[in-house]
Amino acid sequence: PVNRSAVVQKARLKLPILAEEQEIMEQINQNSFVVLAGETGSGKTTQVPQFLYEAGYALKKMIGITEPRRVAAISMSQRVAHEMNLTTDEVSYLIRFEGNVTDRTKIKFMTDGVLLKEIQGDFLLAKYSVIILDEAHERSVYTDILIGLLSRIVPLRQKRGDPLKLIIMSATLRLEDFTQNLRLFKVPPPVIKVETRQFPVTIHFNKRTFDNYLKEAYTKIVKIHNKLPDGGVLVFVTGQREVKTLVRKLRKAFPLKQSTGIEDHLKKTLRQAKKKKGVTPIDLDDYSVPGDNEESGDESDYDSDIGDGVVHTNKPLWVLPLFSQLPSGKQAQVFQPPPEGCRLCIVSTNVAETSLTIPNIKYVVDTGKTKVKLYDKVTGVTSYMVTWTSKASASQRSGRAGRIGPGHCYRLYSSAVYNDAFQEFAVPEIQQKPVDDLYLQMKCMNIDKVQNFPFPTAPDLMQLKTAQSRLEILGALKESRVTQLGRAIARFPVLPRYGKMLALSHQQNLLPYTICIVAALSVQEVLLETPIAQSPMEAKTLRQKWVATRKQWAGVGNSLLLGDPMVLLRAVGAAEYANADGKLESFCTENGLRHKAVIEIRKLRIQLTNEIKLNVPDADIIVDPKLPPPTDLQAKLLRQIMLAGMADQVARKLDPDELAEGEDKAKFKYAYRANNMEDPVFLHQGSVLKKTLPEFCIFQEIYETNKMYMRGVTAIEPE
Ligand code: ADP
Ligand code: MG
Repeated sequence: PVNRSAVVQKARLKLPILAEEQEIMEQINQNSFVVLAGETGSGKTTQVPQFLYEAGYALKKMIGITEPRRVAAISMSQRVAHEMNLTTDEVSYLIRFEGNVTDRTKIKFMTDGVLLKEIQGDFLLAKYSVIILDEAHERSVYTDILIGLLSRIVPLRQKRGDPLKLIIMSATLRLEDFTQNLRLFKVPPPVIKVETRQFPVTIHFNKRTFDNYLKEAYTKIVKIHNKLPDGGVLVFVTGQREVKTLVRKLRKAFPLKQSTGIEDHLKKTLRQAKKKKGVTPIDLDDYSVPGDNEESGDESDYDSDIGDGVVHTNKPLWVLPLFSQLPSGKQAQVFQPPPEGCRLCIVSTNVAETSLTIPNIKYVVDTGKTKVKLYDKVTGVTSYMVTWTSKASASQRSGRAGRIGPGHCYRLYSSAVYNDAFQEFAVPEIQQKPVDDLYLQMKCMNIDKVQNFPFPTAPDLMQLKTAQSRLEILGALKESRVTQLGRAIARFPVLPRYGKMLALSHQQNLLPYTICIVAALSVQEVLLETPIAQSPMEAKTLRQKWVATRKQWAGVGNSLLLGDPMVLLRAVGAAEYANADGKLESFCTENGLRHKAVIEIRKLRIQLTNEIKLNVPDADIIVDPKLPPPTDLQAKLLRQIMLAGMADQVARKLDPDELAEGEDKAKFKYAYRANNMEDPVFLHQGSVLKKTLPEFCIFQEIYETNKMYMRGVTAIEPE
């Protein structure tokens, strides 16, 4: 029996899904596969695990729930533990770098990638009685693959007389991709639709569409707050940097006054949050964190372009940011009511679209934009682009305004743009990224013909072929079979090319270095480019200091030629020294390292080290916080190992004679040719190899902004 508090019980009873408990449980008891569709906020994620628990599904085995986003896995596990009055030992989470799962765990929230790895070790998922794949409509690669795999695993468990249930949970869109796919399910699984009390939302399109959507959003919020009746505002922008800029601007326009008792409220919510989750205290005003981790590397700061909407009211606005990298303590704030007399305003990326339901929203401001990582299937070049979102997303966004009563959605684009430029649905992720690691993992699960796998939406043949040939170059596949090296590679939770580097490093005491390099390369944006400073002057000084430090970290000889990986190695090493003295945060700020990245790298180092110990029991390695820099010989060997992992990513210095008549040669000083691409690629701005200009180099990735740049560069020649 579950012992819920009165407050929780009351909140639950308002959720539409509660009325369907009996129907849902009957369907699950009678069928192996069930699709459960319901609007965001109907209670799917928080309640279905509880239904299953109360029906006895956690008596002998675990209830597993996957989420495409780490935020959701953490936040939902905490919420369910709280609602059920259980500890996080019993309702737990596991994501790539961390978790709180114990051997008493009954309900386990995890990212979909984590479950996929578990299947490699235990194909039948023997520990689970039921698997819920949540947010299936998001079409993340791993959830897609899991649907395919589970469509086969569930019947196998059935045959053994040890049944496993699969529940696919989704917002109510495009369910046919799952239900009407005969390769997936011969008999379409039953679909349960949870009806939601959705109030009407009036949609207001802009007459015209302006480029500066951030400015438009700001002006609109000011207008809403000045003129419209009470009710929370939810604003959708594309990334973390935009969220922070807009939050800063809005807080400046509508300051919170001492007299409103905000200070007390702040202290109180903090105390509550601490008591509930044991989180460390956080500085609620600290948004200009040094690690402004913008995924896009897009450096323009819109602050100056936002302009000043005219502020008439002196009513305070309670402005909160929301994005996936936000620490969970701060995330939890969006669920708390605003202080007395304040209007709530949440500035969010698309995490608030379906993953998290924000209470009490009446107005939605939709920029219509989303940020996507584009990937060229032929050249492998990646770039971030802000584009129009899909009609399906726009409709999800506007729906957020109709949960408590009739609402309004302000779309900052015209209906003509909506009709002509918006796609119906977003392209599934599996069709827009490299599938190398997936291909290898599937091969390791003895899936011979990957092209015949029951994908909900198949990747195209070109993607599969490229993956196969790259894996053959790496030596992970031979004649379409997984080699021993391939199996070793697949065990590591990193890209295959990094797995190969690790597998080669048991010689010459190189492992600790490779582990550290691979960990650093697997985490996005470790070294920052743009300091956050009070003035342009100060920013310039700081930036010069960062550049000088990085040069010093690169060293000379083979160290210098190791290039970017060497800089990362030393940066992580220096950060660990600072950490031992308790000065990690200030060290990161002063030297342009992203604090959270450094912490993630440490976790990944520990995980990789443990993984290797499992595979190679006599490997004598520890995660040494005081790892000395590699010797010149070691640096040389590390260069060879980098080459072994990146053999398909070699660039050659561009010969000025190749340039067309009349081209300005100076502009091509740092230019290279790579991957048979027509356009040259360039050493990135902060590269320590700009002086050396190696004849040949390897790179981790090519990305495109105004030009194409190589990231993670190591020199091959000179020897
Ligand atoms: P769905 O999965 O169908 O979108 P959820 O189960 O996530 O719905 O949410 C159900 C309700 O629980 C929502 O009203 C949401 O606001 C509330 N809720 C979710 N997480 C929290 C939390 N951490 N604190 C307070 N309320 C929450
Ligand atoms: Mg949900």
